[in-house]
Amino acid sequence: MENINWSELSFGYMKTDYNVRCYYRDGKWGELEVSSSELINLHMASTCLHYGQESFEGLKVFKGKDGKARVFRMDENAKRMQSSCRGIMMPELPVEKFEEAVRKVVKLNERFIPPYESGASLYVRPLLIGLGAQVGVRPATEYLFIVFVTPVGPYFKDGFKPTPVVILRGYDRAAPLGTGTYKVGGNYAASLAAGEKAHELGYSAVLYLDAKEKKYVDECGPANFFGIKDNKYITPQSTSILPSITNKSLMQLAEDMGMTVERRQIPEDELATFEEAAECGTAAVVTPIERIDDIDENKSYVFSKDGKPGPVCEKLYHQLRAIQYGDVPDQYGWVTILS
Ligand SMILES: *Cc1c(COP(=O)(O)O)cnc(C)c1O
Repeated sequence: MENINWSELSFGYMKTDYNVRCYYRDGKWGELEVSSSELINLHMASTCLHYGQESFEGLKVFKGKDGKARVFRMDENAKRMQSSCRGIMMPELPVEKFEEAVRKVVKLNERFIPPYESGASLYVRPLLIGLGAQVGVRPATEYLFIVFVTPVGPYFKDGFKPTPVVILRGYDRAAPLGTGTYKVGGNYAASLAAGEKAHELGYSAVLYLDAKEKKYVDECGPANFFGIKDNKYITPQSTSILPSITNKSLMQLAEDMGMTVERRQIPEDELATFEEAAECGTAAVVTPIERIDDIDENKSYVFSKDGKPGPVCEKLYHQLRAIQYGDVPDQYGWVTILS
């Protein structure tokens, strides 16, 4: 076993031993196949390359104090991938097949699961792509589902620390009735230019406003947004946001902590009234927002003046992590022990 410096891991790709694949041909899904190749052989006229027939997922496996590997809410990821498939006309992969593939790929790459103490995790990346020689714009007839894994450290290098985000009014990520609710590569291609501009300006992410009216808070880059005020957890309701499993879990935890959860439109002006704000997702976990600058309008909303996370974000973050690592009882059956 090579020496991996677990605590120095970034959110990047590292080669592991195996990946698991499954083909859809002649109208049905085949058996799971194990591969040790990092490459795929596909036709240059595949729909995934030309017309963006691609969906992906992201979930994490955590090693507990007891040495057991735990995966967080993988049935939710499986169901969301089915929703993405319906959204871009790909055949739905059965939930059981998805889960079987995740179990298999984690088991085969067990030696890459970071130890409990490191605070790192094994990132699981399922993807589903359209294959076959075709130039006409219509759904493919063949598909490939792949799951690979890679050990990852925190998404943000500075860890659990407030980060600045920016509103860039010249960009949209997804249209109100477009593909924003699906986890598809096309949304990410559409967000790259704004993301790079934000980074150039010194921000970690873009906070998108709703594309139609530019009035309400929408998605925060590759993560969901939530704000805290008056003992309330408030997160946007929108037809262009990806339904985050992390956000769904945090809403439950916030309720358990005696907070009221509101899922509704959030006018940009209301940001000025929030005591805390954060982005959340599998990669970002809970990342507190230091401030939001609406640079085109010369407005700024500040949530952390001392560079420290607010108390509610802190509590939500630790509670979620404690469940994921098995430090506290798994009250909702969110965790599956893999080995
Ligand atoms: C994956 C993703 C999220 C986070 O979802 P989780 O299920 O919490 O990982 C949020 N927004 C977008 C755009 C995403 O692609």
